[in-house]
Amino acid sequence: MGKALIIGAGGVASVVVHKCCQVPDVFEEICIASRTKAKCDALKEKLDGGRTNIQTAQVDADNVAELVELINEFKPDIVINVALPYQDLTIMDACLETKVDYLDTANYEPLDTAKFEYKWQWAYKEKFEEAGITALLGSGFDPGVTGVFSAYALKHYFDEIHTIDIVDANAGDHGYPFATNFNPEINIREITANGRYYEKGEFVETAPLEVKRVYDLPEIGPKDVYLLYHEELESLAKNITGIEKIRFWMTFSEKYLTHLRVLENVGMTSIEPIVFEGQQIVPLQFLKAVLPDPASLGPRTKGKTNIGCIYQGTKDGEPKTYYVYNVCDHQECYREVGSQAISYTTGVPAMIGAMMMLTGKWKKPGVFNIEEFDPDPFMEALNEYGLPWHEDFNPTLID
Ligand code: NDP
Repeated sequence: MGKALIIGAGGVASVVVHKCCQVPDVFEEICIASRTKAKCDALKEKLDGGRTNIQTAQVDADNVAELVELINEFKPDIVINVALPYQDLTIMDACLETKVDYLDTANYEPLDTAKFEYKWQWAYKEKFEEAGITALLGSGFDPGVTGVFSAYALKHYFDEIHTIDIVDANAGDHGYPFATNFNPEINIREITANGRYYEKGEFVETAPLEVKRVYDLPEIGPKDVYLLYHEELESLAKNITGIEKIRFWMTFSEKYLTHLRVLENVGMTSIEPIVFEGQQIVPLQFLKAVLPDPASLGPRTKGKTNIGCIYQGTKDGEPKTYYVYNVCDHQECYREVGSQAISYTTGVPAMIGAMMMLTGKWKKPGVFNIEEFDPDPFMEALNEYGLPWHEDFNPTLID
């Protein structure tokens, strides 16, 4: 049915490639392109032999001309961006120039400021409309499935949703004293930033990790959850009818937070460049270089993740609550695709989003967040392709 250019060859890209190869009728041909071609070749070697034809290429995704050349050569129907958020705009520029659909899993960030804002990518809306191509922003788990869950809740169970609590729990243990489950730079930038939640038309700021609750999660048990800002809050606040309050909660163990506090106190999480022995380095990038590679955590990680959304609102004038969540087992993911659940829960929705676009189910010119499309075919695909979801109509609420 179609050809996909997959940019990036890291943890998430590896899952995307595995999952695309499981659906060869949709992904007839893929090209894996990254800075380091050897990583793309290693993935190809693992997966060659199936019905999906796999090519590889070297590309610097910061360079629009290089991207355009690669797109013109491979002629994909869609570009799946699973490189880093810094590359979003250059890849969108290349898609515009070549009139090819675009998908990513994280919003654009400038290298020097961690902002987590959609404004740069939303600014492409008219250009994508004029070019007649689709950009699907944030097709991972959070953002991604959390937006699909929200559209599904609104479509089937509520007239109005008033509050959303997104709870992202990872009860996995990799056995290291400290490691991050995905790109450490992105992960630490997210956690050390101020917390923020949406209430009655504005964002309320908190100190980093200031707000903590304990939530008892299905299949995982009670966990400390901390209020963080997360990028889907911005789009959900805009796209979900009647919304008054949205909060995002993530679990962290005491051990993880102690390490992080020390690293922060000694300046290792800073993104301000310093001069070291005549060379400019960014402390956080140096820290990334000494921490375990997230891709190496797969075989060691045991336990489960649980990510879901708790909704409160009204239906036919009556108050209503609804909780929808997915539980994913690290070891099962590893057995299936050779990655732990964090990469898995991001890579599967990226493949499904691309499948929605290639099959024409989600196709309209412009730039869209995931909750702006019909959630039903995506929800079905989640059950089919490895991320089954569960519903609870009487969940415990977070105060
Ligand atoms: P990794 O660091 O494992 O992989 C990133 C890949 O991008 C690497 O292969 C790297 O190439 C490649 N890359 C970086 N810069 C360039 C460039 N200039 N040109 C070409 N390739 C480049 O990250 P993850 O796989 O963990 O994360 C991928 C994306 O997924 C990130 O944007 C992350 O924010 C997002 N994400 C989203 C989640 C969600 O739920 N929505 C959850 C987790 C992650 P090389 O290896 O050659 O250096």
